[in-house]
Amino acid sequence: MSRRALLQYLELLKQSGIQHLYHESAQMLTPVGKKALLEDLAQEYSDCTNCPLAAGRINLVYGEGNAACTAMLIGEGPGDSENKIGKPFVGAAGQLLDKMLAAIKIAREDVYITNIVKCRPPENRNPSTQERLACMPYLVEQIQIIQPKILLIMGLVAAQSLLGNTHTLGWHRQSRHEFMGIPAFVTYHPAALLRNSNWKRPAWEDLQAFQKEYEKLL
Ligand code: SF4
Repeated sequence: MSRRALLQYLELLKQSGIQHLYHESAQMLTPVGKKALLEDLAQEYSDCTNCPLAAGRINLVYGEGNAACTAMLIGEGPGDSENKIGKPFVGAAGQLLDKMLAAIKIAREDVYITNIVKCRPPENRNPSTQERLACMPYLVEQIQIIQPKILLIMGLVAAQSLLGNTHTLGWHRQSRHEFMGIPAFVTYHPAALLRNSNWKRPAWEDLQAFQKEYEKLL
């Protein structure tokens, strides 16, 4: 998906009137109000059939965390454990994510964590372009409500989906980005770090760069 295609899609979305658009009104919401709204939306979308991933869904994994957070973390999609439990990053990758966050002095409760697609792709395959586009309005809506000040994008699929290109993870990691006007850092997905421990050192460098910017925003 090109950046232009994504922008056109988001513009169409705005014009369609079929999605909630919270950019203005979200500024008026208290943290409690944001949390309640996110919970209502998670319930509303729990039977979504907008893409083929609905077929394998046990639970929609909408997102979890601090609705008034400074940092939002975005991964690719739910895995088996997440599908069963309905929460993001609860398996081995989730445990590693908790350790990664602790290493930069961030508790899971401090951030909001979600994914590009909210339902599990079968056999953990990459979500298709059609699936990513179908689910993107939910992520855009979450960002509009939460209004994070910084994003940490985890993994190549999430980076390419949000930044609208086909560059490598290495390219994404070495550049500064924005999504919806919000500064965005890119690093490895924790599941990738479980598969290849050689990536832990560069991931640590990414996290330190992210931490530096995050702490300026507190
Ligand atoms: S992945 Fe997203 S668009 Fe597809 S069925 Fe699930 S909630 Fe709906």
